[in-house]
Amino acid sequence: MFCYQCQEALKNQGCRVNGMCGKKGDTANLQDLLIYTVKGISVVAQKAGTVDSEVGHYVVKSLFTTITNVSFDDDRLIDIIKQGLALRDKIKGKYNVSGDLHDCAVWNAGTKAEFLKKAEAVGVLATENEDVRSLRELLIYGLKGIAAYADHAIVLGFEDKAIFDYLVEGMASTTKELSVDEMVAKVLKAGEVAVTTMALLDKANTETYGNPEITEVNIGVGKNPGILISGHDLKDMEELLKQTQGTGVDVYTHGEMLPANYYPAFKKYDHFFGNYGNAWWLQDKEFATFNGPVVMTTNCLIPPKDSYKDRVFTTGNVAFPGVKHIVDRKADGIKDFSEVIALAKKCQSPTELETGKIVGGFAHNQVLALADKVVDAVKSGAVKQFIVMAGCDGRQKGRSYYTEFAEKLPKDTIILTAGCAKYRYNKLDLGDIGGIPRVLDAGQCNDCYSLVVIALKLKEVFELDDINDLPIVYNVAWYEQKAVTVLLALLHLGVKNIHLGPTLPAFLSPAVVDVLVKNFGIGGITNVDDDLAKMLN
Ligand code: SF4
Ligand code: SF4
Repeated sequence: MFCYQCQEALKNQGCRVNGMCGKKGDTANLQDLLIYTVKGISVVAQKAGTVDSEVGHYVVKSLFTTITNVSFDDDRLIDIIKQGLALRDKIKGKYNVSGDLHDCAVWNAGTKAEFLKKAEAVGVLATENEDVRSLRELLIYGLKGIAAYADHAIVLGFEDKAIFDYLVEGMASTTKELSVDEMVAKVLKAGEVAVTTMALLDKANTETYGNPEITEVNIGVGKNPGILISGHDLKDMEELLKQTQGTGVDVYTHGEMLPANYYPAFKKYDHFFGNYGNAWWLQDKEFATFNGPVVMTTNCLIPPKDSYKDRVFTTGNVAFPGVKHIVDRKADGIKDFSEVIALAKKCQSPTELETGKIVGGFAHNQVLALADKVVDAVKSGAVKQFIVMAGCDGRQKGRSYYTEFAEKLPKDTIILTAGCAKYRYNKLDLGDIGGIPRVLDAGQCNDCYSLVVIALKLKEVFELDDINDLPIVYNVAWYEQKAVTVLLALLHLGVKNIHLGPTLPAFLSPAVVDVLVKNFGIGGITNVDDDLAKMLN
């Protein structure tokens, strides 16, 4: 195996035996083979001149499945690959696609051993030139994140053919000999499609569940047994809340599901207790002390410990061998959480980790409702600077940088955040500025879209020509491929001088880093004091 798609890549170079994330070598190789299968379908669909919704849905599901901490299940991966091969050959037959095709469009296998053998030959390192590999993988990781966001929208009944078209165009492009300029153009176009996709998901979420509102979220525990739900899938959240109503079981969010607390449609449920714990990487401790069942709707799952493995349920694209999987809803149907609820009733209530409340719900609609207050605060000088500290959290020790950075920021600054990076500072008492909290949490990582809408509104209000003239600096943390997508979206919107940490991605070759530095001023981070001096200058 060779994998360098996330921030935990071994020695910031790449995992070669097993993943730091817990992914085994065979699993990593099969994920590469699934990517190869998607490339094959994309090549064939391009030749056929059509991307129908069956292809679009398959590509979305498959790319999402290969994101860090989604699927650890080899047999499931092989099943998805087999479905892909059948789909590829169906398109070929239907549209008479033939002739000289790339190997990804013609290979086949039957047994598990054959799939594993093929998988070894089609990984990331099959592209020998370091810079070509870097640009191809940067594009693929951006497309993976787009696929994840598109998948959440599809679940709510929202889709856009233009997104499917670009996923196919982008994946097919990685099989072609393109110039550096052509590859860079594909990457930047992915940023544009990322914005479209995040906007679509924002529409799907807000039209279905209302606009997030300022909300105080309880971080303590109650006396009833509970179910903990994590990930990003709001439809699962809705159905779980409905099915647990009146059962005596409370529902708590974990990790990236925290922002579900901000939606009006969910706040009405009395048994929606609040949020338990922190970001994804602390789940091995926090799932143990929760005492009740846990539902993982999307990433980030880490290999469950035996002490709580029998209480974990996966669903959607998430899978782990030996962990119970809740099957997908049929068209117009619902997911059945009855087994989870039955288990919860036999469990003890959660062990208390902390008490108190945290505040969130500052997505674009809510912040724009406060626009006058915010603009006045900037004009009066009460607010000097906004710092976008969105993105990811992770287990690397150096991420305490972000807590220290937040603590040391001057009191006339406001942090804009989205994604699980917030857990590094959302429980600090950073106070407020004239009633505006100093940490404004817009929601999940896809809600970085809200931060963009807010920035564009401020640009309009202050009558600026360039988004970079706003008093906003970007100190963004990344972990997995959805964060790459958000980064590409920011670049597409013209945002410059983004600081990316805690380390620059291993998949960026020195020459590609050079392109990003020259064109966008992207930089890393160093230490809090130097970075504060540099960023707030
Ligand atoms: S996803 Fe990250 S940690 Fe896992 S194998 Fe790949 S680079 Fe390593
Ligand atoms: S914020 Fe980052 S680590 Fe957390 S779920 Fe989103 S992309 Fe993954």
